[in-house]
Amino acid sequence: MKQIGIFIFIVTSVLISMLHSGCTQNEWKYLFDGKTMKGWESPEEPASWQVEDSVLVAEGSGSCLWYTGDVSGHDFKNFIFEAEVKADSLANAGILFHTEYSESGSPAKGYECQIRNTAGNDAGRIMTGSLSGIRNLCKSPVRDGEWFSYRISVQGKTIRTWINDILIVDYTEPANPFRTDGTKRRRLDSGTFALVNHHAGSKVRFRNIRVKALPDNMPSSGTPLKDSVYSARLIKMAGKHIPLTDLHIHLKKGLTMEEALTHARKFGFTYGIAFNGGLKMYIETDDSLGKFLNAYQQPPQTWLAMQAEGREWMDMFSKKNISRFDYVFTDAMTWTNDKGMRMRLWMKEETEIGDPEDFMDQLVDRIVRIVSNEPINIYVNATYLPDEIAPGYDELWTEERMDKVIRALVDHHVAMEISARFKIPSATFIKRAKEAGVKFTFGTNNTGPDDLGRLEYCLDMVDDCGLTWQDFWFPDDQMKTKQQ
Ligand SMILES: [Zn+2]
Repeated sequence: MKQIGIFIFIVTSVLISMLHSGCTQNEWKYLFDGKTMKGWESPEEPASWQVEDSVLVAEGSGSCLWYTGDVSGHDFKNFIFEAEVKADSLANAGILFHTEYSESGSPAKGYECQIRNTAGNDAGRIMTGSLSGIRNLCKSPVRDGEWFSYRISVQGKTIRTWINDILIVDYTEPANPFRTDGTKRRRLDSGTFALVNHHAGSKVRFRNIRVKALPDNMPSSGTPLKDSVYSARLIKMAGKHIPLTDLHIHLKKGLTMEEALTHARKFGFTYGIAFNGGLKMYIETDDSLGKFLNAYQQPPQTWLAMQAEGREWMDMFSKKNISRFDYVFTDAMTWTNDKGMRMRLWMKEETEIGDPEDFMDQLVDRIVRIVSNEPINIYVNATYLPDEIAPGYDELWTEERMDKVIRALVDHHVAMEISARFKIPSATFIKRAKEAGVKFTFGTNNTGPDDLGRLEYCLDMVDDCGLTWQDFWFPDDQMKTKQQ
């Protein structure tokens, strides 16, 4: 009797689960009917969520709107979620999944996918497409006032986001993920969806909100980062809103755009991809610069940078073409010394040091001139010294010399790169510059695919110098380069 009972129980369970999956899995179900708030609840601020012309509009005080309707009993594990979204200027909102209904406060359980196209002054840069606090994208792939599609998928332990069908985040939760205090429940489980509008003054619209439930036993579609220590460190930084950007990468030594994007999705980095322009460089004439720009297909989750080389570049390219880059940077590694010798400091045979003190005075003078006269946004490979005198860095970079450079950076609103490749500037220099109000960027100036994203020195400097998200420089969200 007992065995028959168990048998019937098993058969019934299987039948129920088959029926369940047959009904709800692998087909799109709309969570918003386009007419009413049926299936949605906002216990705190119901008036902040309205339906207008088939669109769900969030406006008013910050609050959450929970899906409590019938689809899948508002409990989802593996799924594909889609919505069309439009955000007004300075909107700050999100889509939560694997979360749970609560009467008040912001939800602690589950993950948030961010909606924010223009950074305000309040909470760092967690832009549209980000998996908030875990994989923060620092550049929105879309602009304010335009409808875009938002897709989120969970398959096993893998979470992906797409904006306008472009894959942005590809995160696989490891077995014991590191989580900062206050985000311990940011873990995969199962749960419902919620929309969140973070503050008054933020207006966001949603339409065509739908979900396709996927089978519970799906395997992960990705893999976690192998280096769990680095992985934890990145999440700790993201939790502090430290922008995990690399504004100085080059597609070279076989590194393709697709590899760079794959890397960015997995690590949660935002890349600025730089092309060199200048005498004897990749782009040498304004005509070829124009052709390059016309042909370049910029992935919208990346920035496009011009690395201006040598001092001749200002006469070689038109302002019109230069302004088509998101930003421009240069270094002080190529200059002409007092004797009229054009030097490239990384080439021993082209560099004349002579008296190191005299060399340093000339170098500081050239840096100040470059920062003061050239229309650049970032001074990169900052404070670089030729190998021959590099061991004397701390003695040669006297306080007086540091302050001359720092003053020029502050006066001309030029940011300073922290170079992962050359491990410069020193912590002493960075602290002094921070104190004076200099803004920073991270750059690997990668030599190929292998050192892409190896930002360890930059992250060390965040810790050693107490940098916060306010200390960083970014290209303008809705504009191109600095106009002079
Ligand atoms: Zn470079």
